[in-house]
Amino acid sequence: MHELSVVYPIVQMAARLARDNGIERVTCVRLAVGEIHDLVDEYVFKYYDRFSKGTPLEGSRLKMRRIPIVYRCSDCGNEMVFDHFSFAGAETACTACGSARTDMVSGRELQIEGIEYLAPNQSREEPAASEDEGGGPQ
Ligand SMILES: [Zn+2]
Repeated sequence: MHELSVVYPIVQMAARLARDNGIERVTCVRLAVGEIHDLVDEYVFKYYDRFSKGTPLEGSRLKMRRIPIVYRCSDCGNEMVFDHFSFAGAETACTACGSARTDMVSGRELQIEGIEYLAPNQSREEPAASEDEGGGPQ
């Protein structure tokens, strides 16, 4: 399943980002996904839940922002916008001037845009340093 190889590194990256910043409990990961990636939400969420177990991401939500596929014409500047379905088999020659010199300028994105988390002092109380010197085993 194609989603597996996409979701696994994203979870790893987000978990490392959380740990590097001392975040224990992530509530949401925001992801930008270009339409060129043929991702089925159902599988993405399934793998996300599976891989996030035991990491700071466990129980968090994944929000995906879809980014359209955009081609820009080098000759006239015309931009053509596709989603995943309209792009399948589409001609990428410029629809305005007919030039074949068009380049994809967006639609390949696959990046973490941000993570939302509970501030450390909201998720649990820091254990107070013990000043108790008395006692000892009785
Ligand atoms: Zn053009």
